[in-house]
Amino acid sequence: MNILERYHAMEYGPAPEARNEADAWLATRDFGKALFIGGDWRAASGGRTFDTSEPSSGKLLAKVSDANATDIDAAVAAATKALPKWSASSGYQRAKVLYAIGRAMQRHQRLFAVLETIDNGKPIRESRDIDVPLAIRHFMHHAGWAQALDRDFPGQKGVGVVGQIIPWNFPLLMLAWKIAPALAAGCTVVLKPAEFTPLTAILFAEICERAGVPKGVVNIVQGGPEAGAAIVNHPGIQKIAFTGSSEVGKIIRKATAGSGKKLSLELGGKSAFIVFEDADLDSAVEGLVDGIWFNQGQVCCAGSRLLVQEGIADALIAKVKTRMSRLRVGSPLDKNTDIGPLVDLTQLDRVKGLIAEGARQGAICWQPDAALPSTGYYHLPTLATGVSPANILAQEEVFGPVLATMTFRNTEEAIELANNTRYGLAASVWSENVNLALHVAPQLKAGVVWVNGTNMFDAACGFGGYRESGFGREGGREGMFEYLAAKLPLGPVIKPATSSVQPVEQADGVGIDRTAKLFIGGKQVRPDGNYSLAIATAKGKLAGEVGLGNRKDIRDAVSAARACKAWPEATAYNRSQVLYYLAENLSGRADEFAARLVQLTGVPAKAAREEVDQSIERLFLYAGLADKFEGRVHQPPARAVTLALHEPVGVLGIVAPDDQPLLGFISLIAPALAMGNTVVAVPSERYPLLATDLYQVIEYSDVPSGAINIVTGRSAELAGVLARHDDVDGLWLFTDADTCAKAEAESIGNLKRVWSGGGRSLDWGSEEAAGDGFLRRAIEVKNVWVPYGD
Ligand code: NAD
Repeated sequence: MNILERYHAMEYGPAPEARNEADAWLATRDFGKALFIGGDWRAASGGRTFDTSEPSSGKLLAKVSDANATDIDAAVAAATKALPKWSASSGYQRAKVLYAIGRAMQRHQRLFAVLETIDNGKPIRESRDIDVPLAIRHFMHHAGWAQALDRDFPGQKGVGVVGQIIPWNFPLLMLAWKIAPALAAGCTVVLKPAEFTPLTAILFAEICERAGVPKGVVNIVQGGPEAGAAIVNHPGIQKIAFTGSSEVGKIIRKATAGSGKKLSLELGGKSAFIVFEDADLDSAVEGLVDGIWFNQGQVCCAGSRLLVQEGIADALIAKVKTRMSRLRVGSPLDKNTDIGPLVDLTQLDRVKGLIAEGARQGAICWQPDAALPSTGYYHLPTLATGVSPANILAQEEVFGPVLATMTFRNTEEAIELANNTRYGLAASVWSENVNLALHVAPQLKAGVVWVNGTNMFDAACGFGGYRESGFGREGGREGMFEYLAAKLPLGPVIKPATSSVQPVEQADGVGIDRTAKLFIGGKQVRPDGNYSLAIATAKGKLAGEVGLGNRKDIRDAVSAARACKAWPEATAYNRSQVLYYLAENLSGRADEFAARLVQLTGVPAKAAREEVDQSIERLFLYAGLADKFEGRVHQPPARAVTLALHEPVGVLGIVAPDDQPLLGFISLIAPALAMGNTVVAVPSERYPLLATDLYQVIEYSDVPSGAINIVTGRSAELAGVLARHDDVDGLWLFTDADTCAKAEAESIGNLKRVWSGGGRSLDWGSEEAAGDGFLRRAIEVKNVWVPYGD
């Protein structure tokens, strides 16, 4: 054997990371008192503990206090007590605390990394080089936001006490994503780690003690779903921030419906990894290793669906297999290890079950010929080919080291396949043609898109998804908004329509049918049921009739809104022009609308005229902002720029209020349209004629067909239909509290974003009832990472 042959034949020697410090920490800690509440270490009041064990051996690491509802009460009480002082402290004071946390974590970086690896099973290279540094960066970055709060978020205040629930796949990093922005915003927190991985959060609580975090500002409770549910349902909590499975996310959405709690959900994914034929294949293969085998594939944004262009599929698959054969599966504490154990036996069984089902459904599952360690929950990296788009491996989040492969012929097919999922978290696009990559990225239904890269994160760049991947963002400016709230100019409590609508005789046999129709797809159409609703004047006489829309009409309206491509694809300038034109045409008929307001609502003529003028002014405002409320470019500490693009939410359902019925209606549809959404609006049930009178104004204003659809009828019923419709992406509700609560609970089908006034209207005439707060609700921020350099 010559030297070169010997060199190639050499095996890696073991390179274990020392674990003495972590073992010493484990040996000295009293895990029976693991609840960190109000600055004290407490046992669980019920005396229960749960086991946390080491995935690489199955050995018990600790028996940890298991909180129940009484403990959660105590934690919320501590957070509530600490809130006034903490929220009133200066940004500088909070910045110093956040910075001190970051610095203290830096000093214990190695202990954090080793503990994380021992508890979770992730390779030490990952916890050491990715999880822990990113967590520290998060605290450092948010120290800055604490101090910049007044400057960058004028009028916004911290929401109060926050309940935070996190998963086991990135225990410390998810903790940092949750706690850092909350503290920066002046909130106090009750955080619950996942029951598989409690350890680094306990170490973090010790850091809080040392870094001078005031008692009660950070409370860390340990436990499982019972403790989680007690947090979700606690009336003393103003916001829930959850990261975990879509299944539990839906339970939480339902449980918080009608509670007024602010909610952000970071859920699962089935992210596409798209390789075009002009991609650098070797780089793409390295990207894939990161994309799907990072943390054994137990990553929410794992690139678990490889979509490869037909012409290069064989070549790429061959390269992937060669690379897979070189992946080193072994002890996670070994610095050479690429793939460690899965977190738990249940997770291993789940992955095996999904692979078996995928194979039964026709997928060919390939694994490299490698031995697994004799103990621990290891699984070989797995490549599934011959996967049909309906195969379980293409649809379900496996959360394990399994890559499902499909091919595409052209760009359109790649986009279609990528979007053929109920999730919308992340995607990677590989092409040496940056024009192609930037053409594809905005068309992918995903909150984060990496061009020629994968799994890039930074505290300055928002992360989060659409659809069943949840809503809300973590990191960056948009992440701060999740912990802030502006005081909205509250209007009257909205009574259920049945008690506010006066009965009025219908005009049978009058001869001419004067019923205002529905407005769907740019046309006035009869309601499906052919029923109408009589509308009364302020004096109780018949003012006219409108169509009584039903489920089928909403369905048609949603289809028309979805089919309308001209509006979301129009330039912002173009949308701005159309909104100006709408304002101009409304202004041409101002007298008529003012008279209608007087007739229906009985307001004095002067007030009616003012409402019309304000409605025109509001249209002008949003016409002007349509091309100004733009995204940003971030410069993260990597050789990349991140384009934080604003894109429309999609199809927005809007249920408009009764009071100030013209201004309320315009104040809601105008910002939605300005940002490129298409709208299905349900106007005031009591005064719908103000909306139906707008049909002609809309028709004369060059609004593309389907951009605005108006369905009159019973607000409560139609709100429910919109909430349950899985092709509606967002819902804004200014209707009675009961209808809002029901709609929130019923929105879980596709986890659409719901914004409700909680049964209160707004003072639509006030300045705060317009502007950025509305525009922010009308967009999703998509972060597109574009690396540069050779
Ligand atoms: P999980 O939903 O089972 O548990 C997450 C957390 O919720 C745990 O702390 C758990 O104790 C708690 N919980 C469980 N039931 C609850 C209930 N009824 N009420 C309140 N809390 C409850 O998820 P998991 O298995 O721990 O984590 C894996 C999931 O997390 C995957 O789906 C993954 O995609 C997702 N995830 C998402 C992101 C993201 O940013 N989008 C990041 C990491 C993980």
